[in-house]
Amino acid sequence: MAGEPQADCLFCKIVSGEVPATVVRETETTVAFRDINPQAPTHVLVIPKAHYKDAAALAAASPELLADVLREAAEVAAEDKVDATGYRIVFNTGSGAGQTVFHAHAHVLGGRGLQWPPG
Ligand code: AMP
Ligand code: ZN
Repeated sequence: MAGEPQADCLFCKIVSGEVPATVVRETETTVAFRDINPQAPTHVLVIPKAHYKDAAALAAASPELLADVLREAAEVAAEDKVDATGYRIVFNTGSGAGQTVFHAHAHVLGGRGLQWPPG
């Protein structure tokens, strides 16, 4: 069922604590943790605790939960002090765009110059 934990999902395992992560923030509905392969000085992933395969599925099922993720992305940026210099929120959607984990997640990237358009 949409939103239910998936046994084979890495990020559901991070939510449950089965897989460890460097958690920087947690709310009733979200978890934020450092990316294991950081692409910038600040590289944090913000995920809904509920499982949706990508940002579009999350938006369709629960706009409030997507808003929680975005609000937490801003909190992470403020805590890492990259809000003043600017940061990027990225939702890779589909394998052709680089999505490798099919549990919706926002990348929060900052702390260095960011090219536009991204590669
Ligand atoms: P994406 O390629 O957009 O699906 O993003 C998945 C991200 O998850 C990548 O940036 C990975 O480096 C990151 N990642 C994979 N495994 C872990 C893990 N165990 N803990 C933290 N980040 C992870
Ligand atoms: Zn999941």
